[in-house]
Amino acid sequence: MGMKSEADYLEELVAFASVTADKKASKACAEHCAEFFKSHGLHTKLIESDGYPNVVATAQKTKKPKVMLQCHMDVVPAGDKLFKMKREDGKLKGRGTFDMKFACASYMKLINDLGKDTSKYDFGIMLSFDEEIGGHNGVEALLNQGYGANVCILPDSGKDWHLESTGNGAWFVKLSKTGKNAHGSVPHKGINAAEILTRTIHELHKLREDYSDEELTLSLTKISSGKAMNQIPDHAEAVLDIRFKTSEIYESLKAQVEKICLKHGVDSKNIELFSCINVDTEKPEIIDFIRTAETVLGRKIPKSHSVGSTDARYFCAHNIPCVVIQPNGGGRHADSEWVDAEGVIQLTTILRKYLEQCAII
Ligand SMILES: [Zn+2]
Repeated sequence: MGMKSEADYLEELVAFASVTADKKASKACAEHCAEFFKSHGLHTKLIESDGYPNVVATAQKTKKPKVMLQCHMDVVPAGDKLFKMKREDGKLKGRGTFDMKFACASYMKLINDLGKDTSKYDFGIMLSFDEEIGGHNGVEALLNQGYGANVCILPDSGKDWHLESTGNGAWFVKLSKTGKNAHGSVPHKGINAAEILTRTIHELHKLREDYSDEELTLSLTKISSGKAMNQIPDHAEAVLDIRFKTSEIYESLKAQVEKICLKHGVDSKNIELFSCINVDTEKPEIIDFIRTAETVLGRKIPKSHSVGSTDARYFCAHNIPCVVIQPNGGGRHADSEWVDAEGVIQLTTILRKYLEQCAII
């Protein structure tokens, strides 16, 4: 049997239908990867958080290697045939090829290529299985348990070898208003929670006027109120999805949201807050990565901004710089999902050169 290629590893990984929250398939996939890392001499741990598996494998016995290679292994749902990878026109097609099992396939090839040499390096691999639903039992849990690195490689975004240097943060906030019931024919005897809440939301929407769509979006995503059509509702609640480009925008917006809510007697409660991504591209670890990638690819690596989000937010919150970059691909979360086969091979080459520069002990 010849040496396995990145595509061979990827084909095996795609075959595990590790759809988020399918704990059985996730566990089987995690065990497959853990077994691979262990058999290649890495210190390997399977770490469960609320039923979600995680795998951490390190060349040295440490929770904080110099370089951490991260990959989320959960995927969005798909029909059975998408879990059988196809190779066509230089593309690797199927669920999870681009988002983002290609990275794990590249890490496996890298480890196989390094062979016994892994012990000369200080790097680790971190696999999680809950990115698509927020990463609380994946990357967030692991970082809270003391795992970390000097730099993390996270190829989950950044189109066609653009380096994602900034990314929007997200704030999900629940608004609720308590009023007073009355018969629909005598509204003045009650306090209409629904009307007050919608007025509040209208006022909150005006806050967008000072910003561009890239700097700030504020969307009403959930709203509910009322039990009967002829009763003044005594309760109303809504959820806003707010995305912001900088922490300054968030701070200023938060103060204004609180002020407006207070004015209307509306209660506001944080559901989730994801900080924005701001990678210091002047850090030596980042500069070295860019230089290595430019040498391997033979072209410039442009920097880009993303309005979406990745697990990079957790690394940023722990002051760990993240390299968010990936080969060409497409059809994320769609049936047409694919990744450029050549790009995955190039990633392995970049990582190997990068480890030689930044992760030798
Ligand atoms: Zn992803």
